[in-house]
Amino acid sequence: MSAGLIVDSVNSGKILVSDGAWGTLLYKKRLKPGDCPERWCVEHPDDVLDIARSYIDAGADMIKTNSFGGSRFKLDHYGLADRAAELNEAAARISRQAAGEDKWVIASMGPTGKMLLLGDVTENEIYDAFKEQAMALARGGADAICIETMLALDEASQAIRAARENTNCEVICTFTFERTVKGEYRTMMGALPKDVVPAVIEAGAHIIGTNCGNGFERMIDIIRQMREVEPDKPILVHANAGLPKNVNGVDIFPDTPDQMAALVPELIKAGANIIGGCCGTTPAHIRAIRKAID
Ligand SMILES: [Zn+2]
Repeated sequence: MSAGLIVDSVNSGKILVSDGAWGTLLYKKRLKPGDCPERWCVEHPDDVLDIARSYIDAGADMIKTNSFGGSRFKLDHYGLADRAAELNEAAARISRQAAGEDKWVIASMGPTGKMLLLGDVTENEIYDAFKEQAMALARGGADAICIETMLALDEASQAIRAARENTNCEVICTFTFERTVKGEYRTMMGALPKDVVPAVIEAGAHIIGTNCGNGFERMIDIIRQMREVEPDKPILVHANAGLPKNVNGVDIFPDTPDQMAALVPELIKAGANIIGGCCGTTPAHIRAIRKAID
């Protein structure tokens, strides 16, 4: 990769721009609720490539892949578990094609939907599923593995170890927090940002952060809390376009590109190094964030 390591670029003082939502754009195309998004990597590769390109064109320094639900546990719901390697490799190839050689591909790995705590699966089974996914993403040309929307530390640790031990990719791990009535930010499993950060670094993540669940306003608080316990590691944020409002049974994400861009200076001040979007964000949001950073 001619772009080098993401960590080196951050350490040189750059603020980097990541991409926005993929699911939001897939549904704008023809994906129906109940369809398998990852299947589109082989059945509608041009549509997936189109999404990847739209974020590169918007000025993103890095793009994700259409592989969030690409673990064999998730794909099993569609009878596609045995195609996990094929679908993830295809996902990475598509984003690599859009990114060219001078932008990064940060390949998405979301939760398996299985809970170690409940004994749904063993640690080895979780590890093996993430190993299979990470290796396929690396084969397809990923520069980094982006383990995201994590809720449970034990699952995240297995994902990080699987990516570190079986690929040469940089490893990013981001958690999703909810604000409690007391105003604290906790994962669904009850962990605070200050609990999550050292555990994720211990497991081997190069880049830490938070994604989904919140807009930029709340992300500023979460990043500040992460930065307090970890002065050095790059922090990535993929925020939603605000908190969803339910309009006639449909979640609408209200923050406009300009509203998100206006909070970028505060996000950077709180300690963010890599800034992008999650649910409800589009290339227009990423373009506005790019402009704010430049
Ligand atoms: Zn999201």
